Amino acid sequence: MKKIMVTGATGQLGSQVLNLLVEKTGGNGISAIARDVTKLTEFSALGVNVVYGDYNDRNSLVKAFSGIDLLYFVSGSDVSSRLQQHENVVAAAREAGVKHVVYTSFQRRNETENSPVFLIAQAHLLTEKLLKESGLTYTILKHALYSDVVPMFIGSDVLEKGIIYQPAGDGKVAFTSRSDMAKAGVAVLTGEGHENKTYEIAGEKSYAYSDVAEILSKIGGKPVVYVSPTAEEFSKTLSEAGVLAEIIGMVGAFSEGIKQGEFDFPGTELEKLIGEKPEDLAGFLSKVYSK
Ligand code: NAP
Repeated sequence: MKKIMVTGATGQLGSQVLNLLVEKTGGNGISAIARDVTKLTEFSALGVNVVYGDYNDRNSLVKAFSGIDLLYFVSGSDVSSRLQQHENVVAAAREAGVKHVVYTSFQRRNETENSPVFLIAQAHLLTEKLLKESGLTYTILKHALYSDVVPMFIGSDVLEKGIIYQPAGDGKVAFTSRSDMAKAGVAVLTGEGHENKTYEIAGEKSYAYSDVAEILSKIGGKPVVYVSPTAEEFSKTLSEAGVLAEIIGMVGAFSEGIKQGEFDFPGTELEKLIGEKPEDLAGFLSKVYSK
């Protein structure tokens, strides 16, 4: 039986992958790394082999990955240091003799420095290149923007306010839930024939914020409108409201990316991988906003 290791297992995506793997295997042959192993005590109790590993500490990774056949590599969450972190993970996987790395990448159109989301994209571009050049067997899962980020961008109080205010124009996104990303990961880790393949992990429909407004109007039973200011107006309005410049920059960059069609890659590869219809955005938002 193949030995599988999950990284990012203390996080929202990795923990779902680990849960699904434990359901399938009873924990047998499953390992996970964590910077703080006490965060995974519940999984240890279920038979998962939990070991210390930090993307910043290559030696810890070599040790942790020893004897592992399949590595589920969750992209790091610290954008400022993950170029080096991802180099460490790929190098350690090679050194430890891992056979196959499944990497959680990112959908994008523009791969140049002119991309509005280049800050996010560059680690994914580098990691895909490193994996392809490494001689390791790989599978690249190009994740859509999570449906789960929509409430972060538009706010938990959007139904009360009745307005989505984002400088994203008519741009569309194939928003897909994080839980379907996890199912796709598990399908690849436990399935056959995914060697050296790249998959677009996205639902079959793209949505503009005007569509999101329509969905929310139905959920809330009263109108939600979508207003798309210019990037400058957006920045000025939010900064006058006291929002941190860093947040304005991040949301503004994603909005500009959406406007330019960076994440508009609907498709059926996800459905084929998981063997069921992915959760659509209306279903996801209804769970979030009907509470
Ligand atoms: P998350 O909940 O923030 O989880 C991130 C995971 O990475 C945590 O388990 C964290 O461990 C681990 N990690 C961070 N730095 C590490 C390090 N130096 N060494 C080892 N592990 C480290 O994020 P998520 O929602 O599960 O998403 C997974 C990844 O997808 C994110 O990291 C990000 O790259 C990307 N993402 C994509 C989208 C999208 O829309 N496509 C949205 C959000 C994030 P600790 O518990 O030790 O911090």
